[in-house]
Amino acid sequence: MADATTSVPAFAKSLVLGEIDEDLVFPFPIRRDAEEEDRIRRLNADLRSYAAEHIDSRAIDDAAWIDDQVFHDLGELGLMGLYVPTRYGGQGLSQTGYARVFETLGQVDGSLTVALGVHQSIGMKGIVLFGTDEQKERFLPDLAAGRKLAGFALTEPTAGSDAYNLRSRAVRQPDGSWTLNGEKRWIGNGGRGSVLVTFARSEVGGADRHTAFIVERGMEGFESGERYDTMGLRGNDLRPLYFKDVRIPPENVLGEPGDGFRIAMEILNNGRMSLGTGSVGLAKRLLDLTIEHVTERHQFGRPLADFDMVEDKIGWMVSYLFGLESMAYLTTGLVDAGVTDYAVESALAKVAGTEFVWRQANRALQLKGGAGYMRTEPYEQILRDIRIFPIFEGANDVLRSFVTLSVLEPLGEQLDLLTDIDLRDPIGTLGTFADYALDRLRRGILPTAVTRAHPELRPLAGRAGAQVARLRNEAERLLRRHGRSITSQGMKHRRFSDALADVYAQLAVLSRVTSIFEEHGVENSAQERFIAETFCTRAASRVDDALSRLHDNDDDRMHEIARLAYERGAYGYALYEDL
Ligand SMILES: Cc1cc2nc3c(=O)[nH]c(=O)nc-3n(C[C@H](O)[C@H](O)[C@H](O)COP(=O)(O)OP(=O)(O)OC[C@H]3O[C@@H](n4cnc5c(N)ncnc54)[C@H](O)[C@@H]3O)c2cc1C
Repeated sequence: MADATTSVPAFAKSLVLGEIDEDLVFPFPIRRDAEEEDRIRRLNADLRSYAAEHIDSRAIDDAAWIDDQVFHDLGELGLMGLYVPTRYGGQGLSQTGYARVFETLGQVDGSLTVALGVHQSIGMKGIVLFGTDEQKERFLPDLAAGRKLAGFALTEPTAGSDAYNLRSRAVRQPDGSWTLNGEKRWIGNGGRGSVLVTFARSEVGGADRHTAFIVERGMEGFESGERYDTMGLRGNDLRPLYFKDVRIPPENVLGEPGDGFRIAMEILNNGRMSLGTGSVGLAKRLLDLTIEHVTERHQFGRPLADFDMVEDKIGWMVSYLFGLESMAYLTTGLVDAGVTDYAVESALAKVAGTEFVWRQANRALQLKGGAGYMRTEPYEQILRDIRIFPIFEGANDVLRSFVTLSVLEPLGEQLDLLTDIDLRDPIGTLGTFADYALDRLRRGILPTAVTRAHPELRPLAGRAGAQVARLRNEAERLLRRHGRSITSQGMKHRRFSDALADVYAQLAVLSRVTSIFEEHGVENSAQERFIAETFCTRAASRVDDALSRLHDNDDDRMHEIARLAYERGAYGYALYEDL
């Protein structure tokens, strides 16, 4: 949990208090570290040339396997320990630097991206964030060099989104070691991973808590099961894991016993960012493919590119990608600037990124026509690969509830509305919340206005400021109207969280374009300005719509129809009776 006295406060949560902490987002937080820039460019160039020669995405899909040699080679190129500190053999990249390399990876192959994502974004992340010096010395050099692979084992047959309710159990023995029993399912790098950060329930100080363990391949009683046969990401080595009386020495406990659930959530909060920025990378590749196709392919005597509805799709792809990219990199920039509570921002970027790239891939295939349906083209594989993105690392709807309840909590405390309402664990699994409200009160109140956007962007800035004020009003109205039952208002969570995402994205775009104006001049940045105006105008209208529909909606009818359907157990309104 963030230390309220020293941490840099959360940004998105402050928006719902009606405050814009401009110091956090202006200037756009791109790191200008020349040494890191060189390193990123070299890593990206090496990755591109290695991939051009050695990675055949279709072959990975057909063989459902990535050769061991690939991990070995990527390790030699420095790509297996991107953010690991250099003293442990890693590249020591910032969060933004890591994201930039992952963008490139996202353009190469889905399975490889996920295998490396499991290894770095969630697998070894816990050791870097919570490991002791001894654990870092012991594990990180091999992991960063690609000699070993890491995994992250949380999900179980009865605990998916509801990860809090794990059944795996570890019992402390008199000699200080632990005995682990249980079963995990759908674990990436599950067969080839040598270091698996694994979560189990355990009794700590008389209470039933969670503890994180570093399980090593070769520990007696630990086995991986048969690989799953999956729709996409077929090169990902996805397996169940079985633990039968596995003895885990005390030096393999990660963090404090009892702190495992918080550790799991913090790892996922961080890992989610890579799905946001990875989606940006893939979206760029899909856009390039689409532009090439629609400008070359002619029908009705004209290039497809000239048709009205084609331009509509391309315009949407470019302008939304600009907004998404701004939001994703604002988030990594906040982390690099020392913001420790970025759970909401990373969830917003993950949800927006994974849903955009899914729709975009569908539209790209549409524009490719029948050819897009052929397996000689990359689209069908991309669609299969990315279908899981809105489900894993937090199902998007669960994240929407998480976002809304997380941002309502500090407002509820400020208004003293929630004295008897515990939003801290709103649906039992949503993780931990920073001591945010206290932090804000200590720091005083900030204005509800965007004052640091470039003067040429004033109308957009004025509107974004007004939308922040509206967010706060609507949040207050929700809390006053629903009180304790706000935790079960999922449809409202969805609208509020989508509105917050679009306000956050507008602020990200304003900051980014302000920096562009300052660096290149307004006259030389006309295209960026035009795209920013378009994105912000569309985003603002989505915000207005989502917030209005908090009150003006047919949610009751949806509840009613769903319940009738559960009762009937089927559709049941067929026009004709069959035999
Ligand atoms: C390819 C792949 C790779 C994976 N890799 C890993 C890994 O490396 N490590 C690991 O630990 N796990 C991994 N997982 C597991 C993954 O994280 C889970 O699938 C995910 O957390 C969702 O859990 P579930 O599938 O049990 O879905 P459930 O929890 O059963 O949910 C199903 C659906 O119900 C809806 N839903 C659930 N709860 C709510 C709610 N509160 N409000 C509204 N809607 C809701 C959502 O639409 C959700 O998608 C992987 C899974 C896959 C398929």
